[in-house]
Amino acid sequence: MIGMAEMAGRELDGLRELFEQAPAAMALLRGPTHVFELANPAYLALVNYRDVIGKPLQEALPEIVGQRFLALLDEVQRTGKAHVGRATPVVLQQATPGTYAERVLDFVYQPLRHSTGEVSGVFVLATDVTDRVRAEQTLSQQRRLYEAILTNTPDFAYVFDLEHRFVYANEGLLKMWGKSWDEAIGRTCLELGYEPWHAAMHNREIDQVAATRQPIRGEVPFTGTFGRRIYDYVFVPVFNSNGEVEAVAGTTRDVTERKDAEEALRSANRRKDEFLATLAHELRNPLAPIRNAVQLMKHLPSPDPQLRPVREIIERQVRHMVRLVDDLLDVSRITLGQVTLRNEVVSLGSALTDAIEASRPLIEAAEHRFTVRLPSEKMQVVGDSTRLSQVFQNLLNNAAKYTPHGGRLSLHVERTGNDAMVVVRDDGIGIPSELHSRIFELFTRAHPSEEIKTSGLGIGLALAKQLVELHGGEITVRSEGTGMGSEFTVRLPLLETLNTAEATPADAPEHLAMSKRRVLVVDDNRDAAESLAMLLKFYGCSVEVALGGEAALGIVGRFRPDIVLLDIGMPGMDGYATARHIRSTAAGKDTFLVALTGWGQDEDKRRAREAGFDEHLTKPVDPSLLSTLLTVERAAAD
Ligand code: ADP
Repeated sequence: MIGMAEMAGRELDGLRELFEQAPAAMALLRGPTHVFELANPAYLALVNYRDVIGKPLQEALPEIVGQRFLALLDEVQRTGKAHVGRATPVVLQQATPGTYAERVLDFVYQPLRHSTGEVSGVFVLATDVTDRVRAEQTLSQQRRLYEAILTNTPDFAYVFDLEHRFVYANEGLLKMWGKSWDEAIGRTCLELGYEPWHAAMHNREIDQVAATRQPIRGEVPFTGTFGRRIYDYVFVPVFNSNGEVEAVAGTTRDVTERKDAEEALRSANRRKDEFLATLAHELRNPLAPIRNAVQLMKHLPSPDPQLRPVREIIERQVRHMVRLVDDLLDVSRITLGQVTLRNEVVSLGSALTDAIEASRPLIEAAEHRFTVRLPSEKMQVVGDSTRLSQVFQNLLNNAAKYTPHGGRLSLHVERTGNDAMVVVRDDGIGIPSELHSRIFELFTRAHPSEEIKTSGLGIGLALAKQLVELHGGEITVRSEGTGMGSEFTVRLPLLETLNTAEATPADAPEHLAMSKRRVLVVDDNRDAAESLAMLLKFYGCSVEVALGGEAALGIVGRFRPDIVLLDIGMPGMDGYATARHIRSTAAGKDTFLVALTGWGQDEDKRRAREAGFDEHLTKPVDPSLLSTLLTVERAAAD
């Protein structure tokens, strides 16, 4: 049997143990001066193990004077009412005398009473909540900072839960939606009025980010209170402390202006390319009659021997101009994506020989020493031999142009794996290294023309690069700098099947083998028509001229030409319509119809064929091509 006293004793023991072990600070204060009667270890720890027992509070913890605790204790003592304080700061002396620290306490002052009901003391229970309060303060400060950033950024920031609902949306986004926080939060995109396809897309993306744990990016138009804008957005996973995706956060940026600017730039660039193409095309028209006239002068007996060098000047300059205009046209066509290669198996050696022959006059004129090392093995590539030879001719011409008189040039070819490397080197003026990256861009000229007396538009290398790339190759430059010479390397993938039949170069045309051909020239440009007619007459043809489609139709019936050279771009009845009409007449049924245009693109050639043309020539017509055509046609007709 346990007696009452013993039971009470055990309960007291339990209480004492609780008092000793409790993590909360406990103390018992007695009398009007609040003398410490008891203090547990947690309390002693709080006051830095000072010897407080038996001492009035003011004396035990002198730093308390001036803080509100004394007054509070007095009040509890006086009124007999407990006081509960929450997150109350207290400054306490530290182990080193004279140093103080602030702690934050949750505390209770509980009055104890005599049996008479009079207050006999105060029980103090305090919990140190400093760490929790500080952490909360830091968090709320961070939240304020983030909020300040998120509210003021022009971007939208938001968070979705995994059920696709918005759990956060910043000011900017709410404004764009025209919704309040309460209207928006907890809603899905669909509920916020997004179009169904758009809402479904974002739902899918949220699922994807949650499943793959990877961010995704997108761009989408949206019409909100700011009108129709283009938005660029990123969704990223938000992980919980276990590393699981608990939400998907997003940021969205209005990129409308940037997109517009890019589009404006693209369109300006397109217009520039189109302008260049038109310019080159228009420049060709006046060149055609000049070229014809010069060709004719060459064949006519000259009344004055002094005219011969004069004619040669015109001839050379026209040839130069045709080349410039052709380059310009080529480069703008390539940038407009209008060039397709006439792909065949090409012997690299013969493309190089063609280029060397074409550049030889320039190299010889400057008295450069020129060494050539061609491969002994047969190297074949798939491509357009004219275009390839144009590339190498360009490099050789540049080497000759940008090397002072009497320099050294070389061209050599070697094989590296499956590639042919064609290296064109000179010991000329060189190219500063900072220009190497830009030298293949259109209109880049490394040497201002005041410095170097050469002409050029800065097209050649851009064209070369584009052509080489169309062949699946690459062009690079090396130069140690100004005065140190330059080296251009063209890498071209080789055709591996060596037994493929080598492309046979077209036989040179027999010269001026035409007898009395009946040729009708139709062109609205009188100079072009008449100069071509004169040239053809010189070749021995019988020629008539029509300055328009309608006039041509009348002549065909009467003149019955073997060949009609027909300009395409004419006012009124154009070349295509004229061709169709000619084809539909008895006289024109079997006539050989040749289209003459400034463009010569595949599309034009197709249209020409459809309109009934047999051949298609690009203006200004190369005289040798013209004579070939007349010969070939005659052979076919005989
Ligand atoms: P262009 O010769 O018509 O100006 P290119 O595109 O062929 O145009 O060349 C661009 C520029 O590169 C030239 O203006 C010249 O400054 C520089 N360049 C090209 N080839 C050489 C070379 N072999 N040596 C030195 N500079 C060169």
